[in-house]
Amino acid sequence: MDILEMYGLPSITQLQKNTPKKEHWKNTIKIKVDKFWNEKTLADVENKSSLTFLNTSNLEPNKPHHVWNVKQLQRFELRKAIIKARVMTGTYILQADKYKFAHYNVEATCQLCCSGNEDVIHFLTTCPILSTTREKYFSEIREIITYEITAEKWNNVF
Ligand SMILES: [Zn+2]
Repeated sequence: MDILEMYGLPSITQLQKNTPKKEHWKNTIKIKVDKFWNEKTLADVENKSSLTFLNTSNLEPNKPHHVWNVKQLQRFELRKAIIKARVMTGTYILQADKYKFAHYNVEATCQLCCSGNEDVIHFLTTCPILSTTREKYFSEIREIITYEITAEKWNNVF
């Protein structure tokens, strides 16, 4: 009864009196559950600081994030998607994270370039070894941002 009420579905007595057809009931449940979780997520974005940067414009129930749009589930593409998802959610463990938990056994230094602590900023923006990978996307991102904020502001901010 609580679940029916939570999703705005008819009460158990209403369902006993007027039992819907299976397909109609499954469709109603899907619509109501999707609506509930979409509204709850949007409300949480407003109230929770951890969701500040969640892009709600692409938020659609039952539609996976575009990072999971792997055309064929080739092992390499899947592994890349898993790493991207972990970086986006802050669950990808970098050297700086390992160092926080095991000071004596692990160095925070990036093992690719050995020139700085491997934190998210280093990994995504400054590691020289990863620069060729980054540059593929950098010019496109710069073009989009400068279109919005002008090239002068780009130079001041970035
Ligand atoms: Zn590095």
